[in-house]
Amino acid sequence: MLLFLLAFACTNSDDDSSSTETDTVSAAVVGVNPDNFADGALATDITTVDCTLSNGTETQCYSITITGEPANHEIGPFCPSNISEGAESAGKWIESGTLYDLDGDFILALAEFYSDETWQLYEESTGDVNVTTTQEACEGAAKPDVEEQYQNHCVECALEYLADTTYTLEIPVTPTLASSANAIDTRGKIGVALSGVVFDPPAPTDAILAAHTIAAFDDCGGHVNPNTGYHYHAATGCSTEVEQDEHAPLIGYAMDGFGLYANAAEGGSEPTDLDDCRGHSDAVLGYHYHVAQAGENQFITCFSGEVVEAEDGGPPQ
Ligand SMILES: [Zn+2]
Ligand SMILES: [Zn+2]
Repeated sequence: MLLFLLAFACTNSDDDSSSTETDTVSAAVVGVNPDNFADGALATDITTVDCTLSNGTETQCYSITITGEPANHEIGPFCPSNISEGAESAGKWIESGTLYDLDGDFILALAEFYSDETWQLYEESTGDVNVTTTQEACEGAAKPDVEEQYQNHCVECALEYLADTTYTLEIPVTPTLASSANAIDTRGKIGVALSGVVFDPPAPTDAILAAHTIAAFDDCGGHVNPNTGYHYHAATGCSTEVEQDEHAPLIGYAMDGFGLYANAAEGGSEPTDLDDCRGHSDAVLGYHYHVAQAGENQFITCFSGEVVEAEDGGPPQ
């Protein structure tokens, strides 16, 4: 934190009238505000617990238990059931920075899209799409080593398959910048949305595609993992937002406690001064992130702040 403030003060010291402004910027540290979560997003009230950060600091963290079910939107649809279906009956897929409608036409064009004739996600005679419609099929397909019988399937799972959808995250009460950025642990989480859904690390699309499967997302950029529940891989604007003055809305919090804001303000474009982790600082919001555009298969690139060491949630899905 100190290094950061010194660096900031130095870059601003050319102009001798800026000292007051620099002090204001230095003072802005904005962490989690429990009031910002949507009604119904949390399973229990947020509590404060002892925690140890990645740099060894013992401090206080918020223990945040989400219901695991989005407070402000429905889950799905994911896969179209027939190649005749349009975008309204299906979700999304992401490839090379673009969010695609996973409609019948997209399923039909997969072999061409990926230049691989092995792709055949539908029955030639009926046009019906191979979809994992049972818990057994979901569990056989939604894992890194996809069972052979579920290859060439559009994979979707239901939240009802989980006995418990709640999930608890520990986020520092007072975010502190690390001396060097912390890498994202792919077994952990990126953060939590104000709707009560976790932001996950990038979906392992290489493994998914290698099995000729599509792990369909819904229009909100989320899907269900049979072990960890519903989670987002893209911010498409459906999650709960807290509007800001002339700034992109707040959509959640990263695991280091800094705010996660939408990619851009409405009608605007992404800030041009983001650091390697996708963060920047201002006098009102302090240090904060702007998430990547939907389709990029990531929200932020690293944590600028200290985080609680990730619990092993298994491989990402
Ligand atoms: Zn900003
Ligand atoms: Zn996933």
